[in-house]
Amino acid sequence: MSYLDVQKDGSFCYSICFENNFSHLADEVGKLGFHRNKFCIVTDTNVAPLYLTIVKEALLQQFDQVYDIVIPAGEQHKTLDSVKKIYEYLILHHFDRKDCLIALGGGVIGDMTGYAAATYLRGIDFIQIPTTLLSQVDSSIGGKTGVDFDSYKNMVGAFHMPRLVYMNLSVLNTLSEEQFSCGMGEILKHGLIKNSSYFEWCMNHAEEIQSRDYETLLFMIMESCKIKRDIVEKDPTEKGDRALLNFGHTLGHAVEKLMDFTLLHGQCVAVGIIAAVKLSVMKGNIPEESISFVEHCFKKFHLPTKVEGIYAEDILKVSKLDKKMEAGKIKFILLQEIGKAYVDLTVRDEELLSAAESIIS
Ligand code: NAD
Repeated sequence: MSYLDVQKDGSFCYSICFENNFSHLADEVGKLGFHRNKFCIVTDTNVAPLYLTIVKEALLQQFDQVYDIVIPAGEQHKTLDSVKKIYEYLILHHFDRKDCLIALGGGVIGDMTGYAAATYLRGIDFIQIPTTLLSQVDSSIGGKTGVDFDSYKNMVGAFHMPRLVYMNLSVLNTLSEEQFSCGMGEILKHGLIKNSSYFEWCMNHAEEIQSRDYETLLFMIMESCKIKRDIVEKDPTEKGDRALLNFGHTLGHAVEKLMDFTLLHGQCVAVGIIAAVKLSVMKGNIPEESISFVEHCFKKFHLPTKVEGIYAEDILKVSKLDKKMEAGKIKFILLQEIGKAYVDLTVRDEELLSAAESIIS
């Protein structure tokens, strides 16, 4: 078992455990000091048939009361209506402040369960068991929880730290190629914004990564978690550096909305990253060749670099409605160089339009 610890305000906050099975789950949960508490596993209709029984049985070895609720899979269910179902279930089963939610699934389940935990009885504990590559390297760490509202991404939410993140990397073997690629988008983003040699390492190990070799995945996932951990520890509530993690997300979210959520989140972010790289070239920060270098890498991991069926003007319009605005200007994350990102408030509409045009095929 490998561990990474995450701090908040300089003190230990929670551990991230990396394993290739669920055998140590009950021990890790036991270390948190739960005794006669109730647990409710929240999962989705795809993950439940694969992993709900094994996780439940693992916990029942040490705890008597383990409940579960299964929510339909998909971003379209990351809503207040689903959170309401979780509240109703918890009330029906008399969950109180000492009890704990467990998110078993990808980022949708993690964000939604975290939000239910942040708000039920003014806040109860929760544990993350992320089962997609994206949720393992990104959404399960850092305590951002929330749901979408009227097609606005993550419009309602709260910061609420998990008590534990338990990653069983072997669950990635059942993940579709498409979903795996989406996780790679966030991993490559980590390299682009913070560590160019990690970006190149990913490129040079594309084969082992895609064959899901355990040791390669362990190294890669831990490296990404370290990058995310270091950023969120310094800036837990996104007042500064944490915004760098939004690299590719402003245009990515606009594309996601305009495509009416028919493209996956990670695919939209990938296209958004390509646009942000192009803006970085326009600003004269990085050479023109960087575009083909990044595009080549994305294609290696089957990530899209363009979309079709939407208009650049609409991307501009929707991007300006995004919540990442500062004094009326879009807060753009651009690259100073490969491996170093910064916040830019100077992107003009013409530049944004030209970047948006370049990602439409
Ligand atoms: P997801 O949760 O929808 O999971 C993707 C699909 O894979 C789902 O159909 C799910 O049922 C299925 N699945 C999950 N694990 C599986 C497994 N092991 N085997 C087979 N199928 C499996 O999507 P995601 O990409 O994990 O997460 C995307 C969400 O994460 C978005 O809502 C995004 O806004 C959010 N997010 C949050 C943060 C944060 O900091 N909180 C960061 C990034 C993304």
